[in-house]
Amino acid sequence: MIPYCTTRQAAGSIRKANARLPAFGIWLVTQTAYWQNADMKTIVLEEPGKLLLTETTPPTGVDTGEALVRVRNVGICGTDLHAYRGRQPFFEYPRILGHELGVEILEIGENAGGLSAGDLCSVEPYLNCGDCVACRAERPNCCSSLQVLGVHIDGGMREMISVPAAKLHRSRELSTDQLALVETLGIGSHAVERASLAPGESVLVTGCGPIGLSVIQFAQLAGARLSVIDLDPERLRFCRDHFNIENTIVQGENAPAELAEALKGELPTAVFDATGNAKSMMGSFQYASQGGRIIFVGIVMDDITFHDPDFHRMELTLLASRNSRPRDFRRIIDAMESSAIDTRPWITHRSNYDDFIASFERWVEPGSGVVKAVLDI
Ligand SMILES: [Zn+2]
Ligand SMILES: [Zn+2]
Repeated sequence: MIPYCTTRQAAGSIRKANARLPAFGIWLVTQTAYWQNADMKTIVLEEPGKLLLTETTPPTGVDTGEALVRVRNVGICGTDLHAYRGRQPFFEYPRILGHELGVEILEIGENAGGLSAGDLCSVEPYLNCGDCVACRAERPNCCSSLQVLGVHIDGGMREMISVPAAKLHRSRELSTDQLALVETLGIGSHAVERASLAPGESVLVTGCGPIGLSVIQFAQLAGARLSVIDLDPERLRFCRDHFNIENTIVQGENAPAELAEALKGELPTAVFDATGNAKSMMGSFQYASQGGRIIFVGIVMDDITFHDPDFHRMELTLLASRNSRPRDFRRIIDAMESSAIDTRPWITHRSNYDDFIASFERWVEPGSGVVKAVLDI
């Protein structure tokens, strides 16, 4: 079966951006619209450390099952920073980044979701085959041939992109910058579902960047009692201010003792690591209680080791969590619309197309204070 990722990638345009990029098949031109007359703004990560502002040819027309969308907002996250630094697993250059997308539909054919032109949507950027063991088990998030927009194939840092209509999740109330946050929130929603948290359960989240915050958000919705650990006191302050978390502990040698003291010796039964740091991930075993679960939300390009006698003695469960599922997108949009979650304080930094490269270079600096940065394109 041919994966969805054959979605046409504005083939000519990408070749113009960089001659090494492959072509992606042939376009079937169905109609001409005003936006097809002008080149579109595009941002390409040519190689580690080198972003390029360029213009590319817009997609033309839509095939059955697809939609042409105008990208309004793009969320920036750790994946983009890792790609920029050359530390993102499974990554090839050059690449148009952008997997956290708030979009407006320009053209769409008949579709099961009842979507039409003008609708504002979040894009589920996980293009799956629909046919493998994982897909058949309704786990498209870990499809054996998964391709993520902006990671494995070109993403949304451009004015327009074609996507499968089934990957669009509409909101009639949210703005596109809020819709651009849904993918990040999905990581936490799915990780919390993986852990099957019980109300009142004691939970630790290590790493309070956007992914950690999304875990915190859904762990709280599940009724868990939260403790958090991070290197950055500013991030811990954000957790106190916006999530009313009392146990905020600075990462370091004393962190295990401080956590044990704060919890009166009863360690958490679920430990989420959202750092993407091997040392932190290996250290997470010391924070779990007997019979506890450890959930690796962040990914690291390295081996992880642990002491098996302790793992067995404590009968721990180790879980990986990858991406999120379609129902997470629906659930998150509902929660945002009903104000069950408020992500407006998350967006601390913004940029437009012209300022993007300078802004991005500031954002990657330690101490930049970025919680979530959003590109208006
Ligand atoms: Zn992301
Ligand atoms: Zn699959």
